[in-house]
Order: sequence, then C-alpha cells, then structure tokens
Amino acid sequence: MARLTGSSNLECKVCHRVHRNVATLLGPRAPDDWLRVNPGERLEAELTPDVCILPCNGSTRLFLRGHLQLPVDETDFGTFVWSVWVELDELSMSEVARVWSDPNRAAVAPLLGRLATELPYEQPTRGLSVTVHTRDLGQVPILMLSPGSHHSIAWEQREGIGVHRVAELAGLVRHRIDE
Ligand SMILES: [Zn+2]
Repeated sequence: MARLTGSSNLECKVCHRVHRNVATLLGPRAPDDWLRVNPGERLEAELTPDVCILPCNGSTRLFLRGHLQLPVDETDFGTFVWSVWVELDELSMSEVARVWSDPNRAAVAPLLGRLATELPYEQPTRGLSVTVHTRDLGQVPILMLSPGSHHSIAWEQREGIGVHRVAELAGLVRHRIDE
C-alpha cells in the first residue's frame, strides 16, 4: 500500500530539485513470511489489513500491522510512515485482541514485538525489537524502535529525515513492495 500526498515547494538542499507527490506511507500487505509458507499452511492462514495468523511448522505465528513513523524535517510535510508488520507472542496478541474495541485502548501499556518486514536498509530490519503503542479506535498502532539502537532506521526515527531521503526511500522500495 502507498499514500502519495507529500509534496514540498522548496528546492531540495541535496539535489536542488523540487520533490512533488512524494510517498508518505509505504508498506507490504502481508508479513514477509506470508510468502514463505507452503500452500497447505496458506490455506489455514488468515490475513486481514491489520492482523496475520500464520501456521508454521506445527505452531502458529502472530503478526500485527503497525506504523513506524520517521519525522520529516520540513514544516507542513508531516511524517514518513513505514506501514510494517510486527510479530507478537501469544500473550501480547491476546492483549491486543482484548482491547481492540475498547474506546480507552490507547491507555494500554506498550507491548513488545519484533519487526517482520525487511526494509531497504544496509542492515536487516527483520527481527529488530520494537514497542507497540496502541492508539485510539481506527488508528494503526505506533511502533517505536529501541532508543538505544544503533540501526540507521532507529537513528532516522530519533533524528528525522529530509524530503530528499523520503523520495529516495520510495524509489528503493518501488520494485519490492506491492502497492
Ligand atoms: Zn532531493
């Protein structure tokens, strides 16, 4: 899925062009492992826009979609969002299910999970540990990387990125992530 609403009227400080219609949300419709299960397991699996339940070698893996936001250092641009999947243990997923329709679910303590989507960074992003912050009804949970992480995606989440980098990220995933 992709959302193309970002634009900047300013000349880019890096390439001196004006970036228009820049992707501000990008991500795959399923966790990476969705493509790896065999057809028999796929029949037993379940995929919605928010949740994926995947039988795998006799056990069941549980995934939730979340938004990993990178602030953009330009006024009015907002944030760039990776719409990605996070794997949760059974206890955490049952907590998500318990509060899913609760109007006060944003008050639930953050849960721990691991990223289940590979993104175009030099170091792998799958397996990175994140905290999952439930938001108000209708809003996708927010994913926060560990404040101590040295991974460049964690650094980008802490420090923000420029519009040039947003355009670059969109170019990097164009052929990899179904839109
Ligand atoms: Zn640029």
